[in-house]
Amino acid sequence: MHTGSYIDGAWYQPKNDRLIRNFNPANSSEVIAEYPAATAECVARAVAGASEAFKTWSKVPAPERARVIWRATEIARGRVEEFGRTLTTEEGKILAEGCGEIKKGISVLEYYAGAGTRLAGRTLPAEGRDVFTYTLRRPLGVVGLITPWNFPWAIPVWKVAPALVAGNTCVLKPSEITPNTAAHMVEIFEEAGLPKGCLQMVVGYGDDVGQAIVDHPDVKAISFTGSTATGHKVYAAAASRGAKVTCELGGKNAVIALADADVDAVVASVMNGAFGSTGQRCTATSRLLVHESIVGQVTEALVAGAQALKIGPGLSEGIQMGPIVDEQQFTSVLSYLEIGKSEADCLTGGGKVEELSEGYFVQPTVFGGVAPDARIFQEEIFGPVLSICTIKDLDEGLRYANSVRYGLTSSVYTQDIYEAMRFVEGIETGMVHVNEPTVGGEAQLPFGGIKDTGVGDKEMSSDGLNFFTEEKTVFINFDRGTKRDFNR
Ligand code: NDP
Repeated sequence: MHTGSYIDGAWYQPKNDRLIRNFNPANSSEVIAEYPAATAECVARAVAGASEAFKTWSKVPAPERARVIWRATEIARGRVEEFGRTLTTEEGKILAEGCGEIKKGISVLEYYAGAGTRLAGRTLPAEGRDVFTYTLRRPLGVVGLITPWNFPWAIPVWKVAPALVAGNTCVLKPSEITPNTAAHMVEIFEEAGLPKGCLQMVVGYGDDVGQAIVDHPDVKAISFTGSTATGHKVYAAAASRGAKVTCELGGKNAVIALADADVDAVVASVMNGAFGSTGQRCTATSRLLVHESIVGQVTEALVAGAQALKIGPGLSEGIQMGPIVDEQQFTSVLSYLEIGKSEADCLTGGGKVEELSEGYFVQPTVFGGVAPDARIFQEEIFGPVLSICTIKDLDEGLRYANSVRYGLTSSVYTQDIYEAMRFVEGIETGMVHVNEPTVGGEAQLPFGGIKDTGVGDKEMSSDGLNFFTEEKTVFINFDRGTKRDFNR
């Protein structure tokens, strides 16, 4: 296993008293790795190396760059189980979810490898006679990529792959909580023959290396995923020096279940959305707004489902929900459970799992009778906690669903196409589902939120590629010998 940072084609650990301590959240006494954190000087070296590498990488024809991504894809395909185990060991989600995330990243790699032959500009008509006008897409230069711990493989992949295929060079700062999974991503590119300096990884703290990337004048763009509080700071700092920025931030996603909803489908969807990946997905279902005619039936099934979940270390056989990622998140989720108990009815869960005290295990929790102005309804908790609120109709559901500052994803359950379309029109989220869970994203589809969840371009799809390029508009005059009218 590689540890430390990866700069100019070599694994590297600086001298620094501030350490990275990588724990297994299922057993917090198990230290996976401990080493000095990267520093702002490491960032300076990484950016200098990436600037040098840009001079040649940006000139490599895009289809040839894409071949490196294809080779990396094939290498990853052969190591799914190994990478999934690393992910589960440091992040906590169960192995099936860990391997699922690796496979999702492989689909993203495939998509962007294909983009090497589709880096298209536009051909448009010119006003002048005998003038040919078109656009070209060019890479930006060195780009800074800052990622969170909850998708430690998929998110670095969906930033690095489009950035590289477009001809940029990257300085990646993964979350210091989950650096080993990101290290695997570096390994596949290294083995695939990516030239040195094209992908630099600095493993350090946000207030030091993260800030140094954001502030570095030679970093032309910042792509950030993380909390809204940090994202807004990053956006302001990077934009103020003229860098291009995109930020994908927090969520508080709702499912609305109307009177005619298929109750079994609602329950299956919300079980997965609320408790899958221990509720630590930006797309998790944290609110269920359910019609008064079915609220009893749905709530009863969800409570039974939550109580039946098998909780434990994600690498163990038969486990359905793993731990919270670290002590800080664990404390934060537990404090929200206390807030919830003072605001609503705690129908199941509500605390830590006492018999699993060696790790950060929280009971899957369902709160009923939640008022729309309750803190557990409004604030992102980022744990296996569901708030249920009763509604009379779609209009009330939309009003409550839209009352939060976030706008990532949402879902409605109904058999009525008119109500479904009214939901699609009225809901304030960047992604909308009908009769399916709030979770999930696909490589070819734009991914991201609105309101306080997203600033800047969306990710994945052609949008993800466009972010890492700038467009040049070209005018070519071929009216040999003719006088042109420049005042036209
Ligand atoms: P944080 O905002 O705490 O951290 C995200 C990254 O930013 C980390 O690598 C962090 O480093 C770094 N960072 C912290 N401070 C700075 C700074 N001043 N300058 C630059 N970088 C900095 O988020 P979490 O890691 O806790 O991730 C969870 C959050 O991510 C949730 O809110 C979740 O909703 C959101 N998220 C959003 C997604 C989306 O697509 N909308 C997808 C996935 C997650 P360090 O760890 O050292 O603090």
